[in-house]
Amino acid sequence: MSKKVSKQTGCIFCNGGPLSKEHIWAKWAHQIIPSSPFSTIKSVSGDIISEAKKINKDQRRQGGTKNITTGRICMKCNSGWMSRLENEIKNTFSPLIQGHPVKLERHDLSKIFRYVCVKVCVIDSRDKLPALDKNFVQAIYSETDAPGRIQIYLSKTETSDWGSGLKSYSTGYKPASDERITIASYTWGLGKLLIHILYCSSKKIEVEVCHPGLINILAQITSKKELNWPPSYVFTANDADYVAQSLAILHRAGFPV
Ligand SMILES: [Zn+2]
Repeated sequence: MSKKVSKQTGCIFCNGGPLSKEHIWAKWAHQIIPSSPFSTIKSVSGDIISEAKKINKDQRRQGGTKNITTGRICMKCNSGWMSRLENEIKNTFSPLIQGHPVKLERHDLSKIFRYVCVKVCVIDSRDKLPALDKNFVQAIYSETDAPGRIQIYLSKTETSDWGSGLKSYSTGYKPASDERITIASYTWGLGKLLIHILYCSSKKIEVEVCHPGLINILAQITSKKELNWPPSYVFTANDADYVAQSLAILHRAGFPV
């Protein structure tokens, strides 16, 4: 069975309403994320997902992610737990966006992990063909064990091209006598921070960033006890583009087999 375009109409987290139209980034982040001429680009591989053929063209948007809004979150979630999450994260996350030195302890890293997961759920919900499984989004909301795997990597960048940019790529396949598997990546520039997110709907599969040299430079936050920010290597625009395309490159090379 092919994946259907989402018909869910309630809040992506609690399924309730009424829904409110909000900027993806809260006010505190809005003030420190630069505007960018860079577009938001979404690519879906059309050979496996039949619906993807309809939206296979890259979706481009001026102004980067800063101006993106979503209408898929209810007022209660937005002014409740999500607002508390924003308040809890801003002092930890602001130095990363601004490129200021900071030492992140394990509890800071787990806060960042949850925050990025929530943001990815919100961004993904804007798509006609969301990559994230509904049950995965529910698990992020209820802070229970998520069906699927998400890996988050951070790096520093100073290229204005990525100051407020997002590139995403997703693909899906169905192994014989098994559930359908979706793999997606999101590469996200926020000021001087570059975030690379890999999602797989199955825990049985470990997707890797394809360039072996990059794995040592990108900081995977789940595997760290602490992180001294910023890292010494600063990503160029080319590095960032390469990371953004890495899942597509891996897929063209025949992964997963
Ligand atoms: Zn809600």
